[in-house]
Amino acid sequence: MNFQELYYQNPYQTTFEAEVLTCTPGPDSNTYYLTLSQTLFYPEGGGQPADKGTLTVLPDCPDSSAQGQPGSCPEASAQNQSGNSPRTTSQSQSVSCPEASAQNQCSSCRENASGVLCDNCPDRSTSSEPLSVLDVQDSDRGVLHVTAKPLSTGTRVRGEIDWSFRFPLMQNHTGEHIISGLVHRKYGYENVGFHMSDVITLDLSGPLTWNEAMEIEQQANEVVYADLPVDVLYPDDAELESIDYRSKKELEGAVRIIHIDDADDCACCGLHVRHTGEVGLIKLLSLMNHRGGVRITMLSGRQALRYFEQIHDASTAVGQLLSVKPHETLDAVQHLLQESLNKDRKIADINQRYFQAKADSFTEKKDLILCFEEQMNQVELRKFCDLLVKSGKGTICAVLTETEPDTWQYCIGSTEVDLRAAVKVLNEQLNGRGGGKPVMVQGTFHADADAIETALKKTLV
Ligand SMILES: [Zn+2]
Repeated sequence: MNFQELYYQNPYQTTFEAEVLTCTPGPDSNTYYLTLSQTLFYPEGGGQPADKGTLTVLPDCPDSSAQGQPGSCPEASAQNQSGNSPRTTSQSQSVSCPEASAQNQCSSCRENASGVLCDNCPDRSTSSEPLSVLDVQDSDRGVLHVTAKPLSTGTRVRGEIDWSFRFPLMQNHTGEHIISGLVHRKYGYENVGFHMSDVITLDLSGPLTWNEAMEIEQQANEVVYADLPVDVLYPDDAELESIDYRSKKELEGAVRIIHIDDADDCACCGLHVRHTGEVGLIKLLSLMNHRGGVRITMLSGRQALRYFEQIHDASTAVGQLLSVKPHETLDAVQHLLQESLNKDRKIADINQRYFQAKADSFTEKKDLILCFEEQMNQVELRKFCDLLVKSGKGTICAVLTETEPDTWQYCIGSTEVDLRAAVKVLNEQLNGRGGGKPVMVQGTFHADADAIETALKKTLV
């Protein structure tokens, strides 16, 4: 095991001290890549996102450095409290770097072929303010901590990972292993894709029904209740031969196996809880067919609880609106939708009778029937226009409704006149847009009712 990787030695530790080994500018010139003598920051890998957290420069103190204990130096502590550490002072002096350019960037750093920052670079952070770790990536140079400011080689820092971000990842990762392991043992499917974000997605190599997935979920939660140890094993070649473990790829060298009794053995580089009980809860959220297998979305632990809280809050609020209990909202909403549908049908029936009565009110055929109506939607507009045309009471029938002041939706129909050329003229005159077929055109005019009436009479009659 690499000595740097404190996250493997104790995944529950949240703070550490280390020395900056290297600091190089990132490719986008706004970031810097730091390597440290040791780290708790887990780099993105194995489906698990990178840790978040901060690095804080420790005050210069030979005692604290020798003992490796944060805050063990009384002088350093006093300096911190006064907010006047030597490091803070040196930051204010750093702009005197002779290499500094007009952009306050050190030309030697930017142009240095090796990309290594010079010791006088004014960008270097020496402040006791925590420096956010924006990303953590594994590389052939070791674990790279991405920051917005550089630090000098040899600087001692105190690192702190964001435990509220890390622990739910550990819960979810172990929860995913339990589900994948149980599916593998029962159906022989492999986990062929794994991604952690707001929800966990898990791609399995074979088909599964929702009921089968629910059985697996129930078994998985039994594994949680049993509070089984989650063992991290580094078996030698002979021991590895005897373990039937899951693995996404052929592995070389030392293999790290995550073992849960009666549930799973899996080669994994991620971080896990110590006992399955800490997973708290495993909940599958959805299942869909995906590349010959299925994609499951799921949540475990704290995230599953947050999800339940959101669903429960929403169901309770809907239940209060409908005067039913949260678990009875489905029936109540279905009832409401049916009522709404019945009302829509009634309204359509009343509209139809209104359209017919209006058409009947025209006693003789006109060259142009013009109707300005209130609060009609596009479907109603077209239905009414269609009915007027079919009634034969007008050579051309136009129905309009105002949606905003001086904005009118129109529908114009005729079985005797090709309307396409006329509507182009009308659109020009009335600041409109729209078109359609020879027998019916639809669109919008931006003009007042008087102007529309004048233009329609002039153009269509
Ligand atoms: Zn894993």
